[in-house]
Amino acid sequence: MSILVVGSVAFDTIHNHLGTHPKVLGGSATYASLAAAPYAPTQLVGVVGRDFPEDAIELMRRKRIGLDGLEVADGKTFHWEGRYTDDLTSRVSISTELNVFADFEPKVPKEARSVPYVLLGNIHPTLQMQVLDQLDSPKLVIADTMNFWIEGTPNELAEMLKRIDVLVINEDEARQLSGLYNIVKAAEKLRAAGPSTVIIKRGEYGALLFRASELFHAPALPLREVQDPTGAGDTFAGAFLGFVASRDATDEETLRQAVVHGSAVASYCVEGMSVSGLVDIKKQDIETRVDLFRRLIHIPTNPVH
Ligand code: AMP
Repeated sequence: MSILVVGSVAFDTIHNHLGTHPKVLGGSATYASLAAAPYAPTQLVGVVGRDFPEDAIELMRRKRIGLDGLEVADGKTFHWEGRYTDDLTSRVSISTELNVFADFEPKVPKEARSVPYVLLGNIHPTLQMQVLDQLDSPKLVIADTMNFWIEGTPNELAEMLKRIDVLVINEDEARQLSGLYNIVKAAEKLRAAGPSTVIIKRGEYGALLFRASELFHAPALPLREVQDPTGAGDTFAGAFLGFVASRDATDEETLRQAVVHGSAVASYCVEGMSVSGLVDIKKQDIETRVDLFRRLIHIPTNPVH
């Protein structure tokens, strides 16, 4: 079953423990569609400027990401600049230049309107809703957001939340959006605002899934080498939805496996700079890492004596 991804396609300037990396490939839709593509046919809706390099387009084509909905507009590609602390546990946004996204009106290609699985990657919530307006009746819509939109467009974000099934959000932003520090109460409040499922990403501590009375936790894989956590959240969301689409199911068991797949592909993402950790992964690599997760969390059930 196919997937539609909307979000930013970007140049990122990243400052981290390895130095400054100017204008590397990034964007929420870029990471999410690279992560979803190994699982299911994936189409991207977004915009880039005339400065966007042909080799980046070529990379996405090679990964068989449908680009009919990627507009090339006059102007400059979205640019985000961020700085990580040396331990990579936190980052600050230095600048967010919307550029061509400022006047963007997403157009979903006709053939994609009946797509069953939709990922509204981090971007202006109005753009996320404009994409939904053009779709027939998707089976599952998941969305991501971040502090930039929580602070800048709270009313639009509240409207968007009413129209989605799954919200994927990081821990700090869940607290910020709900106004609650306790993560269980924050998830309850976010579920009351619209999405029946809320997934809270906790960086190196994994992810929590809240759905009705269900609670599921998947750890993140402890890694020896982390180069660049940028895009890990979008990667998680892309692989999560990719798995769901490949099974064409949204039951509890499927969602639990999808969370582990999201975490497994995100672990590849953070091992390389920009998208380099994602470009060469094959289905078999993902399975190998999912097995590592199984072993990581296996709890024997010997009787107590
Ligand atoms: P993540 O690390 O998963 O939060 O995602 C990082 C990606 O989000 C980067 O590649 C940025 O280009 C992109 N990004 C950063 N800020 C924004 C924003 N305000 N809107 C859309 N995309 C953004």
